[in-house]
Amino acid sequence: MAQQMTYSSKINKIRTFALILVFAGILIMYGGIMARRIEWLMLILFVLGVLMIVLSCVVYIWIGTLSLRAVPVICPNCEKPTKMLGRVDACMHCKEPLTLDKNLEGKEFDERYNNRKFREENK
Ligand SMILES: [Zn+2]
Repeated sequence: MAQQMTYSSKINKIRTFALILVFAGILIMYGGIMARRIEWLMLILFVLGVLMIVLSCVVYIWIGTLSLRAVPVICPNCEKPTKMLGRVDACMHCKEPLTLDKNLEGKEFDERYNNRKFREENK
């Protein structure tokens, strides 16, 4: 778990999303058990629940690939190790905006700088 704490805030957001999916899937399957008297409803709820849990597994695998591509950096503000995705990301410990792009240094933090089109329009 300690190693996962160094993931960037973006990865944290996706991770939270995956966790919500797992819980929603379990809740829906629980609803399926409650509705076991109505066979078709139980079946639909179970299939939905399984689908959500499968989807969350896919998201977790995706996080794994993303974190391999993430760049480990030491935050200049709090001096804790963090990982960043894309050119602009926030430190997950102190929310300090970080950038890998020297051209963007000193500019106001904007997640849109990860978008190539936006960058070119704002040169
Ligand atoms: Zn920091």
